[in-house]
Amino acid sequence: MENLYDRYGRLHDYVRISITDHCSLRCVYCMPEEGLPFFSSDRLLSLDEIVQMVKNFVDLGVNKVRITGGEPLLRKDAADIVRRIHAIPEITDISITTNGLLLKKKAKILKEAGLDRINISLDTLRADKYRNITRGGNIQQVLDGIQAAIRWHFKQIKLNVVLLKGINDDEILDFLHYSYNHNVNVRFIEVMPISNPIDKWQNEYVGLNKIFYLCDNNHIKYHPFDLPGNGPSENYRIDGAAGSFGLIHPISDRFCETCNRLRVTADGYLKACLYWNEEFNIRPAIPHKEEFCRLVHQALNNKPLNHKMGLNDMGKRVNGSSTWRHMSQIGG
Ligand code: SAM
Ligand code: SF4
Repeated sequence: MENLYDRYGRLHDYVRISITDHCSLRCVYCMPEEGLPFFSSDRLLSLDEIVQMVKNFVDLGVNKVRITGGEPLLRKDAADIVRRIHAIPEITDISITTNGLLLKKKAKILKEAGLDRINISLDTLRADKYRNITRGGNIQQVLDGIQAAIRWHFKQIKLNVVLLKGINDDEILDFLHYSYNHNVNVRFIEVMPISNPIDKWQNEYVGLNKIFYLCDNNHIKYHPFDLPGNGPSENYRIDGAAGSFGLIHPISDRFCETCNRLRVTADGYLKACLYWNEEFNIRPAIPHKEEFCRLVHQALNNKPLNHKMGLNDMGKRVNGSSTWRHMSQIGG
């Protein structure tokens, strides 16, 4: 087994795999209202391809996998994917990011398949606002999904909250309160310009300092909190709380220096950086380990030191973005 270092000495041991670009929702910051030209099923990596691909990554030192999408639980074989990846002894952590709509139905089978951790996206606690942000979603299904996840005792449950100015930034205290009462980690995430026209993004962006400001103004006492396997988030716990909260700030405080992740899109392209147009078609190389490894190394050798999200020259780039893909096609 080898270890994957890029030219800046960053060790890569984590791969995020989008297993579908299809989704049941159309979140305003992620997908256009009319949807996207979704991939036909033969364009998606098959179960066997995903498993062999993970085995190839394991030979390169990867030990941690996240399944994402689109909405990964839309795939009928989502639990089989988890089960077969879990059966690879070198994989020590397997997680999923989901909108939670199908979780009530699938939490048990996912737990039995060996899923360790779940991130559930929930940007508001109000039913009408949820319907607006997701363009049609029913919040009760997500809340039921969260309860099911709690009941099945996953090692870790996180709520992903993308903050949007004038839309849900009035709910920060409500979410902090939620983290006080529930044993989950509420993760506030800065909205990224991916899938978004630049002026829309600029209008909606909220810097996460606002959270500390609100805590201080409301005499909320919190302390740093060590959350195992927490990636780029910094975490805190309100004194006496059942849960915790975390901040993911890719714009105001880039965490690229410690980036350890690779991403595979739903159609089998490897992206070494989320906000970088370059990508490598690794699907044909999955059965050919040597060629697979060569492509992964090539991708890593070209990985930039930092993404350029939020920088002044961004508007000059092709389509105003350093990736042509929408977030639902990469996986977040
Ligand atoms: N459908 C699943 C879900 O919503 O959790 C998984 C895929 S979704 C692309 C993964 C994560 O990316 C979600 O937490 C979502 O909120 C986040 N996301 C999507 N577009 C984003 C954007 N423009 N900026 C920041 N986060 C975004
Ligand atoms: Fe679908 Fe997730 Fe994107 Fe929302 S954030 S549209 S649930 S892929």
